[in-house]
Amino acid sequence: MIQKIRNTVKTVDCCRRGFFHNVFEQRPYVLVFKTTNWCWNNCPHCCESSNASNPRVFVPEFYINNIIDEAIMDENFSRAVVFTGGEIMSAYKLAEENYVPNIINHALDAGCGVDVKTNAGWVNFAFADQIFNDIENIVKKRADKDDTGVKHLINFQISLSLDRFHKDALDRNFKFIKHFARTNIPGIAFYIHVASYNKDRDMFSNLKEKLERAGIKVEPIISINPKTNVIKNMYDLNGNVVMNYSEATLFNGGRAKNIEYAYKTPNPQFVFMDDGFESLVAFDSYGNVTLGENSGNKISTPWMMANGETKQMETIKSDLSANIKQAEKEYLKQHKMLNWMLQSADMIKL
Ligand code: SF4
Repeated sequence: MIQKIRNTVKTVDCCRRGFFHNVFEQRPYVLVFKTTNWCWNNCPHCCESSNASNPRVFVPEFYINNIIDEAIMDENFSRAVVFTGGEIMSAYKLAEENYVPNIINHALDAGCGVDVKTNAGWVNFAFADQIFNDIENIVKKRADKDDTGVKHLINFQISLSLDRFHKDALDRNFKFIKHFARTNIPGIAFYIHVASYNKDRDMFSNLKEKLERAGIKVEPIISINPKTNVIKNMYDLNGNVVMNYSEATLFNGGRAKNIEYAYKTPNPQFVFMDDGFESLVAFDSYGNVTLGENSGNKISTPWMMANGETKQMETIKSDLSANIKQAEKEYLKQHKMLNWMLQSADMIKL
C-alpha cells in the first residue's frame, strides 16, 4: 500500500514536470510491427486477443519499409526492429509469400537489429521447409567473407515462447531449435531467444535436456553488453546458433485479464518510463500505433486515416507526444489533491 502511494506521488510529480513526454521525445525508441492480429492459436494469456477468427489483414510491406527508411534518418531511433503478431508466419498462408523475408531483409539491409517473434506452431505444417529455408537464406546472405573459421554473430534474433499457455510449446521450440543447431552456416551465427515466465522456468531446463539427448552440444557462454556492462548467460548450440533465455512479465491486457496473477497496469507507460527507457512504438494491423505494452490505458494514434491515407513517422511521433501530454494532464486531473499538495510544497520551498 505504502509503495503504491509512493508510486502515485512519483507519477504525479513526473506529470507536473512533463517528464513522460520528454522521455518519449528525447530517448531512443524501438519500432515494433504487430504485422497481423490473426493467429492459429487461441492462447488464454494472449494480450493481443489474437486467434483464427480475427481479420486476415497485415500491415502492408511498403508501409513497414517506408517507416524504417524514415526512422533511420532520426537520431533517436535505436535501430532495433521487432516483427511480431498475432502470428507473423501466417503470412505464408494468408499474404504474399515473400512478405516475411522481404521485411526482415529490408530492416537488416537498413542496418537495424531485427527480432522476429513466432509461436513456431508452423514447424509441423507443410510450408515449414520454406520458412526454414527463408531464415537460412536471410542469415547466409550476411555471411562473413573472411575464412578464419571464426563465426560472427549478426544482430538477428528469432524469439520463441516457452510456457504453459502455448500449445505444445516444448516440442515446437525443440523442433525449431534442433533444426538450426544442426545447420552449419559458415561464417555466421544468429540468436534464438526463448521467452518464458518465472512460473514456467522448469520448461527451459527440460528444453536444454531434450536438446542434449538429441546429441546437441549445449555449452554455456556469457555475453557482456559493452554499453550497460550487463552480463547475460547464453548457450552455444553446436557452434551454429546462440540460444538465450529470458523471463517476461505477464501483463493483464487482452485475454490475460482473466489470469489471476497477470500484472495490472492502469497507466502502463508511466509505470515503465524512466531515464533509461526505450519507447516501444508499436504498429498494429488495425491501423493504430500504440506506445509500449498492450495493457491498461493505452496511448495511441492511428497510422492509417479513415480515408486510407497513411501517416509518416514524423507525424506519428508528434501525435504520440501530444497524446502523452494529454495523458499527463488527465492523470493530474485524477489526482487533483496530490497535485495541489506538491504545488504547495514547491511554493514553501521557494
Ligand atoms: S499468445 Fe501468440 S501464439 Fe498465442 S494466440 Fe496470442 S499471438 Fe497467437
